[in-house]
Amino acid sequence: ATPMSVMVGVGRGAKEGVLIKNAEVLEVMEKVDTIVVDKTGTLTQGRPEVTAVETFGDWGEDDVLRMAAAVESQSEHPLAQAVVRRAKSDDLQLAEASDFNSITGGGVHARVGQHEVVIGKADLLDEQGVTGVDAGREKAGSHQAEGATVVFVSIDNSLAAILAITDPIKESTPAALKTLHHLGLKVIMLTGDAEPTARAVATKLGIDEFHAGVSPEDKHDFVQKLKREGKIVAMCGDGINDAPALAESNVGIAMGTGTGVAIESAGVTLVGGDLRGVAAAGNLSRKTMSNIR
Ligand code: ADP
Ligand code: MG
Repeated sequence: ATPMSVMVGVGRGAKEGVLIKNAEVLEVMEKVDTIVVDKTGTLTQGRPEVTAVETFGDWGEDDVLRMAAAVESQSEHPLAQAVVRRAKSDDLQLAEASDFNSITGGGVHARVGQHEVVIGKADLLDEQGVTGVDAGREKAGSHQAEGATVVFVSIDNSLAAILAITDPIKESTPAALKTLHHLGLKVIMLTGDAEPTARAVATKLGIDEFHAGVSPEDKHDFVQKLKREGKIVAMCGDGINDAPALAESNVGIAMGTGTGVAIESAGVTLVGGDLRGVAAAGNLSRKTMSNIR
């Protein structure tokens, strides 16, 4: 590639909020046929809100939220921030958490006073031997059917609450997907979230292939498998959990609103997290390459 046309392409991209890290991206982007997208923070705003709290056992809503927020204040996950914001807006005094531990793609745990608190997906709590998780699963369904993520909270190894957390779809997402479909690109959604929630979001957006309950390693392996099948893959994501897949894809596309690790792993950053930048990057690539040829 001649440096001049590449520089022009990179400059144009920057004006449209598409930051391109290297010349290779401009070469490959026009050949992409498959777009893999993460759900949370990529298709959705990544500013979720706790919209329902259901408690179990003798726990009251305020006590659960106070402890959950104490733990989540040490996590940078968007779901964690939703829990902290809710506790603050309820004027709750946050407790102190210690021995914080995070399981990427699963949840978090820590001690709060004498109590052991785990917050995350149902399967994670099962793995930790928490009792009462099935009672939470039964109540989770109706929230998930509306596209809400349901997070499970255990205190001292028994289920204390489920939190329904709603993350609205970005305003720009439907238009972006429409353009990508128009261009004949295959769009596949991967998410660590539960199947019913993933299905609700995919249906709403007209995405016909999605995979739920996917770990960060699974996301990486999925991209690798597509490449082995001869697909040219762009992966779009925003989180630490997306970093391995971003690095493995032909073109990694990070949301500028996402975590630093995702941005470092990607060749393209969409400044405002606007997925329409994916189509814009494709156009830039075609223009740049036709100037060079
Ligand atoms: P996604 O692929 O949708 O971006 P992640 O892989 O980051 O999601 O997380 C998968 C699931 O793990 C979440 O839906 C949630 O149930 C759980 N989880 C991860 N981190 C946290 C956290 N800090 N607090 C509560 N739940 C979490
Ligand atoms: Mg995400």
